[in-house]
Amino acid sequence: MNRPDLDKEGLRRKYLEERNKRLRPDGNQQYLELKEGFAHYLDDPYLPVTPREAKTDHVSFAFIGGGFAGLATAARLVEAGITDVRIIDKGGDFGGTWYWNRYPGAQCDTASMVYMPLLEETGHMPTEKYAHAPEILAHCQRIGRHYGLYDNALLHTQVRALSWDETRSRWLIETHRGDAFTAQHIGLGTGPLHVPKLPGIPGIESFLGHAFHTSRWDYGYTGGDPSGAPLDKLAGKRVAIIGTGATSVQCVPHLARACEALYVFQRTPSSVDARHNAPIDPEWFAGIATPGWQQRWLENFTANQAGGNAEVDLVQDGWTDLAGRIRAQISKLAPAERSVPNMLAAYEEADFEKMTEIRARTDAIVQDRDTADKLKAWYRQLCKRPCFHDAYLQAFNHPAVHLVDTEGRGVERITATGVVVAGRTFPVDCIIYASGFEVGTPLQRRAGFDLIGQGGRRLSEHWAQGMRSQHGIHVHGFPNAFFVQPTQGANLISNVPHNLTEAATTIATVVAHARDKGFAAVEVTEAAENAWVELLRSSPGRMTSSPDCTPGYYNNEGQDPGPAARLNVGYPAGATAYFKYLAEWRRSGRFDGLAFR
Ligand code: NDP
Repeated sequence: MNRPDLDKEGLRRKYLEERNKRLRPDGNQQYLELKEGFAHYLDDPYLPVTPREAKTDHVSFAFIGGGFAGLATAARLVEAGITDVRIIDKGGDFGGTWYWNRYPGAQCDTASMVYMPLLEETGHMPTEKYAHAPEILAHCQRIGRHYGLYDNALLHTQVRALSWDETRSRWLIETHRGDAFTAQHIGLGTGPLHVPKLPGIPGIESFLGHAFHTSRWDYGYTGGDPSGAPLDKLAGKRVAIIGTGATSVQCVPHLARACEALYVFQRTPSSVDARHNAPIDPEWFAGIATPGWQQRWLENFTANQAGGNAEVDLVQDGWTDLAGRIRAQISKLAPAERSVPNMLAAYEEADFEKMTEIRARTDAIVQDRDTADKLKAWYRQLCKRPCFHDAYLQAFNHPAVHLVDTEGRGVERITATGVVVAGRTFPVDCIIYASGFEVGTPLQRRAGFDLIGQGGRRLSEHWAQGMRSQHGIHVHGFPNAFFVQPTQGANLISNVPHNLTEAATTIATVVAHARDKGFAAVEVTEAAENAWVELLRSSPGRMTSSPDCTPGYYNNEGQDPGPAARLNVGYPAGATAYFKYLAEWRRSGRFDGLAFR
């Protein structure tokens, strides 16, 4: 402990100053919803919509969302013998976020060995430590084929209404393509970040050049392809990219090589640590890929992140590095000194140390001093999504790349021909919005529907004072409906798919039990849901939701999210303990808290 070379007071002061520069009163209202004149930003540039007949049939299980949540749940159901599973997705194929995000350089930030679900079941070896997007999309398609999920799927289809029919113990599902079919059970895995948003910059509607959002990449305009082929049509073009989050960090190096001039408009710098990607050696893989390997790796990664036995670190990356540093700092405290304030101080010190290294890395890579300074992140590492890249900072050494820092204020204005910051206009041919996705807007707005459960009660009413569930999966008043997402479960943010595959196994176990015993419906009791919510209230919460952090979607743009957000937490004892608890809950066969009828 106690590194005299770290000016902790100075760092705290600087972090606060930077946060205050970025804070704005309109919070989430600053972003534009993609409707009316902006609705075309949502069009699918990848696959045409093919005509089909509307469905009016019945399936055992309907899942809303064809990303990892839907694929993993469907896979576990098929393994349990429930094969008429219908996945519905607004995209033209499976993949969810990986269907839409095909921007050049897109890549997973969590090691493929733990990030890509069902590797062992499908027999796939990831080609790289951090796989690129085309491989992940192909893996989603592989899962779809392996489990026979394509025939029943409804793609390019948006659910508009979901209502529970108590007399027939089934859900009615209606879609924007005229479908009105029933399912005995439903699953919901619509993902937290799937509705693109635009920055509400004055004049944005007046731009006459070309413009698109990174999650709808227009290769017709830029040339190139998602595998990294040069963006050859950008030669001679002046391009603006607005935003410097995880998406921008990955695509800027590709744009840098292609444009005549690239202007990177920055409001808050990302922290960009080393990536160290490497191909996976098939011989090495054959040696470790013995039965049960992926579960072992998942458990090991989670243990390194969230309170398990972490003597070995199989993954060894930026996530486990930070967690390891925090543990090392805490272990320096004598047992009697391990009070909450001392442990938080140890955590802060590990964080200062890490961020100081990341800022030094910027200095070591970026040649222009002023640019290097502007690219430095002044906040705690988990205040914003940590980024890892070995070509992003380097791109600013390219003569065609210009960083336009906005001092935390954002772009001032967009005109018919360019982008304005601090009174200076940058004329451009194209604007690429790397401006992220809606977070914190009402669930029904993002999903496009509200659930109507028992007695006509809406999910939005049930959750008006905050999310209520058991395990983040079962919700009272919504029988035979299962939610697949991290909140109120493990809440493991560094590897979201682990949350999803565990929920998938749970759901398949419950549904198979109902089938085997002849039950038409299953629902969590009110008492069990209340008890789970009470347990969650004792959770310390997430450090990342702190209002002291620099504003962003992690902390509701720095504004008080209200009491409802207090329930956006995970199992108090941590992710490793939660997964153990859940495995035992399933294994017992008692399914405590659920009522079958
Ligand atoms: P983000 O929301 O992280 O970034 C949006 C960017 O737009 C920010 O830099 C934001 O600045 C900037 N911005 C917004 N409004 C303005 C404005 N008016 N003027 C200037 N800049 C503005 O979106 P991303 O798409 O980058 O990432 C979203 C999430 O998706 C990530 O956090 C991550 O969870 C996930 N992701 C994961 C990847 C992976 O695993 N490999 C890759 C990419 C994304 P400010 O920061 O100040 O708000």
